[in-house]
Amino acid sequence: MEMKEELIAVCGMNCRICVGYFGYTMSGKKRKHTCPGCRISDKICAFVKKRCKKTLKKEVNYCFECKDFPCEILEKLDKNYRKKYNMSTIENLSFIKQYGIEKFLKSQEEKYRCNECGAVVCVHTDGCYECGNVGI
Ligand code: SF4
Ligand code: SF4
Ligand SMILES: [Zn+2]
Repeated sequence: MEMKEELIAVCGMNCRICVGYFGYTMSGKKRKHTCPGCRISDKICAFVKKRCKKTLKKEVNYCFECKDFPCEILEKLDKNYRKKYNMSTIENLSFIKQYGIEKFLKSQEEKYRCNECGAVVCVHTDGCYECGNVGI
């Protein structure tokens, strides 16, 4: 499977479909450094970790384990993602909580598969970096 548990961030973001993980910028340029994913790197994005000590100190594995879920930080992130990228980190977390990580990874495999070549597509640019298919 292309989707991996270690690439699902505490906040519900799937780093596998992130433009930074693919190694590109939003404008299509190749980055000097690709992002290895939130759980592996604490530095590149870390939207939630910068703002929440519980995630920084690894007190929760996923935000739904927190008594404050969904907190203001998450709601802000979620709103932004819904608006810009048609994706909800809170829905992702609720799905994981209800059905488990394996089912979530499987659903992500189906949802973010290029209809031309079958590779993983990017949630930020709606494109496939394998075959160049865009507007998926
Ligand atoms: S930039 Fe953020 S969302 Fe993207 S892969 Fe890195 S940690 Fe994950
Ligand atoms: S839900 Fe809890 S752990 Fe997650 S960002 Fe909010 S306060 Fe932090
Ligand atoms: Zn493709």
